[in-house]
Amino acid sequence: MKCALVTGGSRGIGRAICIKLAVMGYYVLVNFRSNREAAEKTLAIIHEKGGHGELLGFDVANKEEVAKGLGEWITAHPDNHIEVLVNNAGIKEDVLLMWMKDEQWDNVINTSLHGFYYVTKLVLQDMLLQKFGRIINIVSLSGLKGLPGQTNYSAAKGGVIAATKALAQEVGRRNITVNAIAPGFIKTDMTEGLDEKQLRSLIPVSRFGEPEEVAHAVGFFASAESSYITGEVLSVNGGMYS
Ligand code: NAP
Repeated sequence: MKCALVTGGSRGIGRAICIKLAVMGYYVLVNFRSNREAAEKTLAIIHEKGGHGELLGFDVANKEEVAKGLGEWITAHPDNHIEVLVNNAGIKEDVLLMWMKDEQWDNVINTSLHGFYYVTKLVLQDMLLQKFGRIINIVSLSGLKGLPGQTNYSAAKGGVIAATKALAQEVGRRNITVNAIAPGFIKTDMTEGLDEKQLRSLIPVSRFGEPEEVAHAVGFFASAESSYITGEVLSVNGGMYS
C-alpha cells in the first residue's frame, strides 16, 4: 500500500492536499492536532471521492506525541510505506518583535521548524530503506522575503526552506526528493481576518488563492515524473515578488 502522510490535514491547505493525494491513489494518513471533527470531514470527502485513509492525531511540535502517534503507526505497519510526506502543519502568531512574548516565538518555531524535524526524521528512515520518497514542505512567502510582524513565522519558514535544501543534498542518491512550496495569501482559517479587497492590489492576479491551487503543486512534486527536481522552492502566490 502506497501511503502519504499530511500533517495538519484537518483543515485548509492540508485538507486540499489530503484529497489531492487520495485521488492520486495514495492511502492518506490525515494528521491533526485537536480538531478531530474537521479531520473526520477530510476523511469523509476522501471516501466520497473513492479514496482511502485514516486519521492520525498528534501534535507535531511535541516530540513524545510524534514518537507515540506516528512512531507506533510505523512499527505496527511494517509492510505499508509512507512514500509521500507533506509537512504542512503550521500556525502564526503575528506581533512586532518588540512586543512578542517568548511563548509566541516558541509556539510558531516549535510547530513549523521542530515539527518538520520530528516528523521527517521518523518517516525518513523507511524512505531510505525503500530508496524512494517525496518530502514536500509547505513554507511561505514570509519565509522567503520576511514580513514585518512575523519575525517568528518568517524565521520558522525560512529555517524549513534552508533545511529543505540541505536535506535534498543528503538523500538525493536514494531517490528521495525534498522540495518546498511557498504560498502567498490562500483562503483558509489562517487568513480569515484579512481584507482580500484591500490586499489584492499587491497580488498580480488580483485575488487570494484557493487551497486546491497549492494542492495541485503538491501533486506535481509527489509524482514519479518529478524525480529530477529537488531542493527547490515553488512559489504559489499569484505572482507576488519574492
Ligand atoms: P489552517 O487553516 O489554520 O490549518 C492549520 C492546520 O494545521 C490544521 O489542520 C491544524 O490542525 C494543523 N496544526 C496546527 N498546529 C499543529 C500541530 N502542532 N500539530 C499538528 N497539526 C497542527 O492553516 P492553512 O492556511 O491551511 O495553512 C497550512 C500551511 O500553509 C501552514 O504551514 C501555513 O503556515 C502555510 N501557509 C498558509 C498560507 C495561507 O495564506 N493560508 C500562506 C502561506 C503559508 P487542527 O485542525 O487540529 O487545529
